[in-house]
Amino acid sequence: MFKANLHIKSLVKVIYLIILATVFWGQPASAQTKEVVAEKGDGIFRLLKRYGLPAADYMQDFITLNKDALGKDNTLIAGAKYKLPDTANTVSDVPDQPVAAKTGLRTERHEIFGKKYENVVIESEQLKGAVYYLMSGHGGPDPGALGKYNNHLVAEDEYAYDVTLRLARNLISEGATVYMITIDPNDGIRDDSYLKVDKDEVCYPRLTIPLNQIKRLNQRSDAVNKLYVKNKGAFQRMVAIHVDSRSRAENIDVFFYHDKRSETGEKAAKILQQTFARKYQEHQPGRGYGGTVSERNLYVVKNTYPPAVYIELGNVNHQRDIQRLIISANRQALANWLYEGLVQDFKTNK
Ligand SMILES: [Zn+2]
Repeated sequence: MFKANLHIKSLVKVIYLIILATVFWGQPASAQTKEVVAEKGDGIFRLLKRYGLPAADYMQDFITLNKDALGKDNTLIAGAKYKLPDTANTVSDVPDQPVAAKTGLRTERHEIFGKKYENVVIESEQLKGAVYYLMSGHGGPDPGALGKYNNHLVAEDEYAYDVTLRLARNLISEGATVYMITIDPNDGIRDDSYLKVDKDEVCYPRLTIPLNQIKRLNQRSDAVNKLYVKNKGAFQRMVAIHVDSRSRAENIDVFFYHDKRSETGEKAAKILQQTFARKYQEHQPGRGYGGTVSERNLYVVKNTYPPAVYIELGNVNHQRDIQRLIISANRQALANWLYEGLVQDFKTNK
């Protein structure tokens, strides 16, 4: 009796679900399809990611849906509208194969990004010819500025490195040549909040980093300059990334510095700063952004040959800054905005 009763209840439930399903699935797909506008620098991968759709599952559907609106090699056109695949209608049992195999896009494997991020889809060649030397601050025996958050030790060099790696990956995915000047052979891009403090970073190509500050800065400037000579004639930029502030007590904005003799460095710094101002306006209107561009006498900026920009992302000594930086999505956003600024710099100043 009890059992039979349960059966009837289940049956009612199933019928109810079938009716529901018919009502929802019966709607024309277009009624549920969301349209979005591609931003400058967007590839399919990035656009899907922004809307929380894993490219591995939705890339093919996106291409099918937007066939007529895509550019050459399935690139996106900034400002154009694209339909997002409907998550409810997407078959989830798509065989698990590399995205590139499905789309025809080339992938490159870069172990430096770690297991999860090592395969980089080359989405476009818009940065072809550009060479970047990304110099993440400190490393090796020098952790840089130290902060504490929720009883965790927070070291500048680890957070600067994570943002720098993410930036490197963005640049590579658009066809740039990137040299990581500070290298951690085993960290990769990390999505953890608290990044383990270690001392195994080396200087390009695989040099032990000395503790002495002048020797350390000289070593990395030297690495950049040797590569600069090798890449002579190409569009080249040195980008140094830090998470500390020597000039302000309460620093919650992103600041940009250049050498006083470098007009090109100044131009690049200004484009980056303007990108940040625009991005903050777009994503956090009313927040206000006070990050500036200024000259500063910095060893690595003064002593490296390519036009250089030195960036302070915040300060691990300040709780509000750490709060921001321990969220990996925020580190990714910083890298994305830096990347967009650098694309703009390349297009404007090449
Ligand atoms: Zn620093």
